[in-house]
Amino acid sequence: MKEVIGLSFTTGMTNYLIDPFNRTIDYLRVSITDLCNFRCVYCRPPEGVQLIPHEDILRYEEIMKIVDVAAEIGIRKIRVTGGEPLVRRGVVDFIRKLTSTDSIEDVGLTTNGALLGMMAPDLKSAGLKRINVSLDSLRRDVFKSITGIDMLDTVLESIDKALECGFDHVKINVVLLKDVNELDVPEFARITLRKPVDVRFIERMPFGREHAPANSPDPFSALRALDMIRTHVGELIPDDRSPLDGPASMFHLEGAQGRIGVIDPVTGHFCGDCNRLRLTAKGALRPCLLSSREIDLRSILRSGASRESIASVIRNAVNSKPVGRAQKLSSQSVGMNSIGG
Ligand code: SAM
Ligand code: SF4
Repeated sequence: MKEVIGLSFTTGMTNYLIDPFNRTIDYLRVSITDLCNFRCVYCRPPEGVQLIPHEDILRYEEIMKIVDVAAEIGIRKIRVTGGEPLVRRGVVDFIRKLTSTDSIEDVGLTTNGALLGMMAPDLKSAGLKRINVSLDSLRRDVFKSITGIDMLDTVLESIDKALECGFDHVKINVVLLKDVNELDVPEFARITLRKPVDVRFIERMPFGREHAPANSPDPFSALRALDMIRTHVGELIPDDRSPLDGPASMFHLEGAQGRIGVIDPVTGHFCGDCNRLRLTAKGALRPCLLSSREIDLRSILRSGASRESIASVIRNAVNSKPVGRAQKLSSQSVGMNSIGG
């Protein structure tokens, strides 16, 4: 028996959020801070960003209230992001609460890896299943020129530590930067031969272009990265995409332990299978990464909204999800540091 409530469905005891393009929206990315210990050139200008005042950042209890309602009406997966999520105090306890929330089946984290080595065992015991580590170069000088900090070895050790701790999935996210990390592409691909990690190459999006530093590197395409791997490493065998692969097209090298993915928001068709909503650190609900439309859920929450009102805001966000490029990518005026990737 399927009951239709607006565009959300209930079958038996299970609720689903379905958008007007028949996509099931079951994934919420939650940015818990805009603070970060890195200064990646494509994310933050060197002069810094205007930080969100402390009182405007959602408290953990407030995020949990939203997650709890979202889980009741159809969200099943959460990804914790930032800024750098591991710099926020109390993150391990917060993740424990997320993993114990009814109907939440999967909790992941995206991190720059600086603090992951020391926190990985606690994160694992808090129930975290999946970790994405952002790493754009395997060369120390290039890593430093991208992130502004000399921590390549620490990040590599963190990845090994995460593997040792036995997380279900460890992924490395590489943002493709023309003339900066092209030479790293084959070496990143070779990691999948030695370790059970997925390496995913992501086209750089021109976020905050107007405010981006003049030295922000140009992107290069995911297709070019695949060509480089075929030329320098070996044949890429296509894999079926699982729901956990998100928008990535997946491949593997013969005999590899891990897989290789490409995410092409700039040159490709990124939106067709979109299953997500985003909650920013200041409590804005974003129906689409590529559109600047936001709903101020923090004000609604702080005005004492009922669970049903919060549910209705989430349903409206789902109903307003666009398909295809709602706006030109370059029209974005906010940086990824405030949206969370
Ligand atoms: N600090 C954490 C990290 O770096 O993994 C989490 C937040 S970061 C904003 C989330 C993801 O967004 C990272 O994988 C980062 O590489 C990616 N990102 C940031 N700016 C981007 C851009 N302009 N284009 C593509 N990806 C970007
Ligand atoms: Fe920080 Fe992540 Fe942005 Fe780099 S990409 S500046 S690590 S938030």
